[in-house]
Amino acid sequence: MTLANIPPAPELPGARHLHSGKVRDLYEVTDGEHAGKLLMVASDRLSIFDFVLETTIPDKGEILTRMSLWWFDQLADLVPNHVISTDVPEAVRGRAVICERLDMFPVECVARGYLTGSGLLDYRASGEVCGVALPAGLEDGSRLPAPIFTPATKAELGDHDENVSFDAIVETVGSGTAETLRDLTLAVYGRAEEIARERGIILADTKLEFGVLPAVAGDVTPPPIVLADEVLTPDSSRYWPADDWQPGRTQPSYDKQIVRNWALSLESGWDRSSGEAPPPLPAEVIERTRSRYLEAYERLTGERF
Ligand code: ATP
Ligand code: MG
Repeated sequence: MTLANIPPAPELPGARHLHSGKVRDLYEVTDGEHAGKLLMVASDRLSIFDFVLETTIPDKGEILTRMSLWWFDQLADLVPNHVISTDVPEAVRGRAVICERLDMFPVECVARGYLTGSGLLDYRASGEVCGVALPAGLEDGSRLPAPIFTPATKAELGDHDENVSFDAIVETVGSGTAETLRDLTLAVYGRAEEIARERGIILADTKLEFGVLPAVAGDVTPPPIVLADEVLTPDSSRYWPADDWQPGRTQPSYDKQIVRNWALSLESGWDRSSGEAPPPLPAEVIERTRSRYLEAYERLTGERF
């Protein structure tokens, strides 16, 4: 897989670059009261089919950062989160947070209330998703009888995450932690699905990441599990306009679907099988994608961007 398009992370005062993912750049804070903490910067990059596009979407990093912060607040009584401060260097203001540097569990904690994507593929092949048996006759976009926990293992950069059974997670993190991760994931999904539904949006599924504060020598009480990463953004979740929901087809969604559809259309001239990244996006596709992210933000939070 080609991931060559991740641009070098900008230098930031008082911070040391650690890692760049497809969308986020991670730094360690080196100066001031938050020295040693993590600075997580959301760029305006967008990835489709595991390619980081050359074209960026203006304000995407800020929209998604604000959405994450809003959700962390909505969830604060359910689970502690990693956010410490939004007082970040000027160059990344609005699209970065200072957070606790956690030991992350190597598990993508996914909750699904509706069937689509990799869950649908697994269901069609086996009638199950991650070892959870589902009733017959479900279609793309069907609502599940109850939300399910469908964990995945985190892949190395450039690989796909792999859906695994709950037992595989027990193997990795132990049964107590696996149960807590499952219960927290379903609790977060349940809360968020309800809030989104009130606002006319279906939260089909979401991926969460959790960690713990590094153990302090001599401390015997187990550290609490903390919700980390980004939460409930269109990059980590599938949001569908409730009005357009119609099982049996691909649902229109509040994410990069516009870009995916354009890339796969004749208009883009892109040959997916070539192994090359899609070409630069036309201005109109950029604008429609930006509007889509904005609409999701404003509808969910009820705030103007
Ligand atoms: P991709 O998922 O394609 O790699 P990305 O833009 O999502 O791209 P990541 O590489 O996921 O970027 O960067 C975020 C990384 O930071 C993830 O590995 C995530 O597990 C880790 N992370 C998130 N929050 C914390 C935290 N509080 N402490 C330590 N690591 C964290
Ligand atoms: Mg990631």
